[in-house]
Amino acid sequence: MEDLYYPYSAYLKQKYGQKVYKLPVNIPCSCPNRDGTKGVGGCIFCGEKGSGHELLSSFLPVTTQLRENRALIEKKYKAKKFIAYFQSFSNTYLDFDDFKRYMNEAANFPGIVELAVSTRPDCVGKNHLDFLRDLKEKTGTEVSVELGLQSSNNKTLEILNRGHTVEDFIDTAERIKTNGLSLTTHLISDLPWDTKDDVLKAARLINLTSDTLKIHSLYVEKGTVLESMYKDGLRLLSEDDFIERTILLLENLNPEIAIQRLIGRVPESDSVVANWHRSWWKVKDHLLSRMRQQETFQGKYYESN
Ligand code: SF4
Repeated sequence: MEDLYYPYSAYLKQKYGQKVYKLPVNIPCSCPNRDGTKGVGGCIFCGEKGSGHELLSSFLPVTTQLRENRALIEKKYKAKKFIAYFQSFSNTYLDFDDFKRYMNEAANFPGIVELAVSTRPDCVGKNHLDFLRDLKEKTGTEVSVELGLQSSNNKTLEILNRGHTVEDFIDTAERIKTNGLSLTTHLISDLPWDTKDDVLKAARLINLTSDTLKIHSLYVEKGTVLESMYKDGLRLLSEDDFIERTILLLENLNPEIAIQRLIGRVPESDSVVANWHRSWWKVKDHLLSRMRQQETFQGKYYESN
């Protein structure tokens, strides 16, 4: 599989010399695209959990969440090194003193080698980056920031009700890199409003900015605006379209960008339709076998200049 794309597991092993596991952490933060600051209702595909599943309560202290999740993973995989993963909603959109406290707690927890902080391109201030850069320098804990780009087309971002632009993403991505932090980008490769040229443009943007990438298909979660649009007749792209566009994306991607995810996983009970009613690993197998058939691989058409 490693000849088809650069898997995140290999990237972590190279960076940390052994297997590293993510421990999800849930903190009380919100999202400006839900509370009226940027918009209401959020992105059309976002469910109530703010893109996070399988999390402990945000009322539990960070240390307690890390301890409980570490105990589970340690036992199962005999793991020693971990990433504290702040996944749900916008983890820089909260009182700055609280933000610092949560990050400090996680960075000083035994076995944590990295903080992964998921947020929006328009929620990362100079104060956040200065603090995270200093924290990395003081504690030796790596920091990666996760940003949703989703589409390289501003018109599509408007339809998605993202409340930020491609330019916001580029500006924040550049500031993250200037501060010596890593960047993970999220992209939905089969948005029905995007063209294949938009996918190519996304590959170029990711090449310029990102260390790792998470690819998703567009799935319809219960209770979302997207569910209403779907019930009103919105046609999603097919599995074949997803595979074709994801291959196009991978072929044009820098082979040194690690792929954290080739397809999203959604609990069946939360979704109306996800991954064409097939398990995520079947779609992933389909994608990889198509790549083998086509004798293609990540970076096949990547040009560094
Ligand atoms: S920015 Fe994230 S948390 Fe906010 S509405 Fe969109 S997907 Fe949900």
